[in-house]
Amino acid sequence: MVKKNPPFPSYPPPPDTAQTLLALMHAQGEVARLSEREQLFSSLLDSVNAVLWAFDWETRQVLYVSPAYERIFGRSAALLLADANEWRDSIYPDDLDYAERSLADVLIKGAVEDREYRIIAADGQIRWLSDKCFINQQADNGQRLIVVGIAEDITDKKQLEGELQRLATTDVLTQSSNRRHFFECAHQAFEKARLEQTPLAFLLLDIDDFKRINDTYGHQEGDHVLQRIADSGRAVLRRGDLFGRIGGEEFAAVFPGCPPEMAMQVAERLQREIQRLSFSHEEQVFGVTVSQGLTAINDQDEVLDSLFARADAAMYQAKRQGKNQIVRG
Ligand code: GH3
Ligand code: MG
Ligand code: MG
Repeated sequence: MVKKNPPFPSYPPPPDTAQTLLALMHAQGEVARLSEREQLFSSLLDSVNAVLWAFDWETRQVLYVSPAYERIFGRSAALLLADANEWRDSIYPDDLDYAERSLADVLIKGAVEDREYRIIAADGQIRWLSDKCFINQQADNGQRLIVVGIAEDITDKKQLEGELQRLATTDVLTQSSNRRHFFECAHQAFEKARLEQTPLAFLLLDIDDFKRINDTYGHQEGDHVLQRIADSGRAVLRRGDLFGRIGGEEFAAVFPGCPPEMAMQVAERLQREIQRLSFSHEEQVFGVTVSQGLTAINDQDEVLDSLFARADAAMYQAKRQGKNQIVRG
């Protein structure tokens, strides 16, 4: 008869076997704890809107990328681990040069914390990343140069920033630049024109008898007139021209690089566009006219205010001469 080994050590086990068993049970508990911890880390890493990554600088290999990569980039992590160029290929072409240069800065600085660039995700969506990176401290004394990083998806934050910027610079009623933003841009355009000795024209526009429009048809209809005039302004402007609502029923435009004759043609076109507008209020149809003052930069102009003052004087002359006309100042 074959003597079978008992499936378990006989009880009570000899002291050395007991120790081995205890060690085994301890190790199993440790493994379970580690695996639990790994799952915890994994779900944490998955839930944050950021990609953690590690990159071997010498071999140009991505050593690790957290699960959020697949969600944010819409690409396979396995492909990235096989070829680091996958990341590079996702970067918005205009930002690629900056993204690469700023990454290389980590070698000099040890840490780069202010990189922001765009990627094109697999679904074609453009996303903004804030990608901080550091040289791995532990790798310092070894031969391997490992760079680790955290790339956070800041698309929502960027959109909010853009929206706040738009609200701060736009007139709510007409969606054109507000007074402050218009003059900020106008000052810059003026300085550039002076420096480069290029032409620049300044136009002021004031609605004729606007108070009467409000009084006759109501404030709401008046608001509608303001919106349509702003639409006309945008329609006749050329790329690079500035247009803003600088007062209740006053608009202004700056035409950088535009000789006076051409600026006059734009003003005339705007005058015609506005004359063509037709409004109706409770079966009453009415139109609107404007008076414009136009001026151009000259060698004596040291500040934008000189142009503004000339355009303003010209506009008031247009009013005095019977309105619905353009006067050059
Ligand atoms: P003029 O032909 O000389 O320019 O006369 P005007 O009536 O256009 O000019 P005035 O300065 O006497 O009146 C401007 C009016 O514009 C008074 C004001 O109530 C109105 N206004 C200012 N802001 C707004 C606005 O946001 N909406 C509306 N509906 N009216 C406004
Ligand atoms: Mg006015
Ligand atoms: Mg007016």
